[in-house]
Amino acid sequence: MISLAQEAQPAGQNGRSQSDPGVPQHKVDPSTDRYSRQVLFRGIGAEGQQKLAAARIAIVGCGATGSALAGLLARAGVGTLRIIDRDYVEPSNLQRQTLFDEKDAAESLPKAIAAARKIAEFNSQIIVEPKVDDLAPANIEALLEGMSLILDGTDNFETRYLLNDYAVKNSLAWIYSAAVGSYAVTLNVIPGQTACLACIFPDSPRGMVETCETSGILNSAVNLVASVAATEAIKFLVGGPTSPDLRRTLLSFDVWSNEHAEISAAKPRPGCRACAERDFIHLAGEGRPHITLCGRNSVQIHERQRPIDFAELDRRLEPHGTVRHNDFVLKFWRDPYEMTIFPDGRAIIKGTTDTAVARSLYARYVGS
Ligand SMILES: [Zn+2]
Repeated sequence: MISLAQEAQPAGQNGRSQSDPGVPQHKVDPSTDRYSRQVLFRGIGAEGQQKLAAARIAIVGCGATGSALAGLLARAGVGTLRIIDRDYVEPSNLQRQTLFDEKDAAESLPKAIAAARKIAEFNSQIIVEPKVDDLAPANIEALLEGMSLILDGTDNFETRYLLNDYAVKNSLAWIYSAAVGSYAVTLNVIPGQTACLACIFPDSPRGMVETCETSGILNSAVNLVASVAATEAIKFLVGGPTSPDLRRTLLSFDVWSNEHAEISAAKPRPGCRACAERDFIHLAGEGRPHITLCGRNSVQIHERQRPIDFAELDRRLEPHGTVRHNDFVLKFWRDPYEMTIFPDGRAIIKGTTDTAVARSLYARYVGS
């Protein structure tokens, strides 16, 4: 046990002293000092820290879970973090999305960009690659190639099944994490060893699914699942895919009722569509909607082949309502709708759940 007295004397260990200003002082290597408490931990050590520095992790989705994962792993010294997110920061995110602040929300900054800026303020020694993009079958290869591990910060099963297909097909490990209400759940997927997402949940949920918009969310449930998943990620990067320390169960925990459960995920399920049959339907893009409901009262138009000139669009929309833009996003308000348009032509339309209305608004103001 470390006593409070020992903990309170960190300066002495570096040989720094206020009493001998004329003596050349021992220069502390900031990279060593930064991670010293983590290197002291027996599960990591100096060699483990070097493995973390060499690692390349993709975090898909940078909302609440993605923010917490990125924050923990950036501080832990993972060398490269690729943060992929299609969304922008809003005031309602600030309750739980720990990498963003009020200024980010006021500017409607894309989450990937805001996350990269925030991380650079507390760890400028690692590389963060922000990707403002909607992970899809057409771009998943380009976005995830060369990664050591993929972490799930998404909020939807469509993207998780796509990730699972890609990971199983390419024998790349990924960690499923989800939180809604007070409930958190996580699974390590190590292809060739453990069960995959499709082994455990063969089909995505049908009909109404609980979301953070409908059921709310506790920030503590998010931080719990992110802490567990970030620790598993570090074990994987330090000890490799066969590390006995890795958890091989589906773990769920309700931070309100304190109910928790673990079911074994140590082996793939015989007959699994992905692991056994290698039928990667989500990677093939089957059944992917072109327009999707997105949150409580909005619709997303997935449109990636339409580069938008924001200055030009700003001029066109000016007579029709309030419009403003920066390099990353254009926002247009026309009561009762709010349109957010991205440089590749993707749009989120608030104020409707009717895809036909959304299509029509898009066609009217952006082009069909
Ligand atoms: Zn499987």
